[in-house]
Formats: sequence, C-alpha cells, structure tokens
Amino acid sequence: MPYRTRREKSRTKSKKTVLILLALLIIVLLSTFIIFKSLQKPEKSSLQTVSTDKSSVSSSSTSKTSESEKTDLPNAHQSDWDLVLVNRENIKAEMNPVLATVDGKQVDARIEKATQDFLAAAKQISPAEHLISGYRSVAYQEELYNMYISQEMAGYGTVKQTGQQISKEEAIKNVQTYSQPPGSSEHQTGLAIDMSTVDSLNAEPVDIAAKVQALAPTYGFVLRFFKGGEASTGVHYEDWHFRYVGVENAKYMTEHHLTLEEYLKLLPA
Ligand SMILES: [Zn+2]
Repeated sequence: MPYRTRREKSRTKSKKTVLILLALLIIVLLSTFIIFKSLQKPEKSSLQTVSTDKSSVSSSSTSKTSESEKTDLPNAHQSDWDLVLVNRENIKAEMNPVLATVDGKQVDARIEKATQDFLAAAKQISPAEHLISGYRSVAYQEELYNMYISQEMAGYGTVKQTGQQISKEEAIKNVQTYSQPPGSSEHQTGLAIDMSTVDSLNAEPVDIAAKVQALAPTYGFVLRFFKGGEASTGVHYEDWHFRYVGVENAKYMTEHHLTLEEYLKLLPA
C-alpha cells in the first residue's frame, strides 16, 4: 500500500531524526561534561596545593614547637636591668636602687606603677592582699638572716618549732629554705615583692594565690619560686614572692614554665 509505505517511510525518517537528535544531545552533554571537567581540574589542583600548604604550615607549627619558642622569644638580654639575677651563686654587693614607696614598702622607682597596678588588681581578688616586703638592703638582709639562724638554733624557728636546740649548721640549712644569705636575696634589687593576704609564707588560701599568680604577668611579675622550679632556683615554693621582669618576659616565662635562671640561659648577653 502506497499510503502505508509512505507512512513507514515517514516513520523511519522520524526515527532517524530522533536518533540524530539523541546523538547530538549526547555529544553536547559529553562535550559540556568534558569542558566542565577540564575547567574544574586546575581549580581542584590549586585547591589541593592550598590545602597541602595549609597542612604543611600547621604541621610545621605543631612539630617545631621549639623553633616557635625561639621565634616567640622576647627581644631581651641577660644584661637588661629588669632581668638582673641575684641568688646564692650570683651574690651581689649593695645595689642602692632609686626607691619609691608603695603600700608602705619600698620598691625600685622604675616598677612603682607596675607594683601599684598589680596590688590593685590583687585587691580585686581579695581586699586582704597587701605588701609584706619590698626592697631590703644587704645589711638589713644580713640582720634578718642572722636572726632567723638564731631562732632556728634555739628551736623556735620557721622550720623547727620544737623548743629543742640544734646546731648552727642545721639551723642554716633550715633558714636557707625560706631566706637567702646576705647578697643573695633578690629583695636587694628592689624588683621583688612579697604579697599575700596573710603575713606568713604559704598560708594564703590556695584559690586566691592561684588567681593572683595568674594575674602577675599582665603587670610584669612572675611567681619567682613556683612548684617544680626548685631544682634550678634552689628555693622551695613561695606563694608570696613575686619578681618584676617586665611584661613580655613575664608572659614568656610563665607560658613556658621557666625560672629566671632557665630563661636567662636562652637569652643573648
Ligand atoms: Zn621574698
């Protein structure tokens, strides 16, 4: 039938068109996909380099803590006035600093403001905070030291309170756990203060002491004889003895748990 054949013809024609259209569609889709992919590739690889850079940065910053410690190290010198080292190995003659009075105690005039501010901040934690000691001359330290020795010898000291007499040698050993021989106490620098809520050593409420100690670096002070520092300082824990070293040094020393003796070893002369 001519009609049928024409119909069949047109059918095959439309089939062909559909196939061509499908093929075209596939080609268009494929090429779009390929173009999209090729555009995406460099982006992806640049992202990857960024992320590897990031990871290499983070890994270097975590693995090279000692290096970052060095780069963090304040630009300070062993010879800086606020880092002067006085201890039993570094005995100093009378230093005669220019003095100022804070809370009835004398300090080096250069730390007057820092001491006032630190005390004021400590008083916010406990109004009972006060200065017990500041500058002490070598001569006065000698008097104090000898008095402590005779108290210990008599059995009425800080360590021995038995009322039984002990030898001078033993008494000196006891005294050196809380007082330094003349010339070896940093109170002679005028840069050390004893501050507490009470007038006896290590008798301050622990929570208050911890809060005050945490504040200290903000004002340039460090707790000079902290727990764990005994091996390098030769002095037992003292909750009240703060030493001015300057804000940057104080923050670094506290963050890295360094005594002044240890910190100075990291610095140039
Ligand atoms: Zn002290």
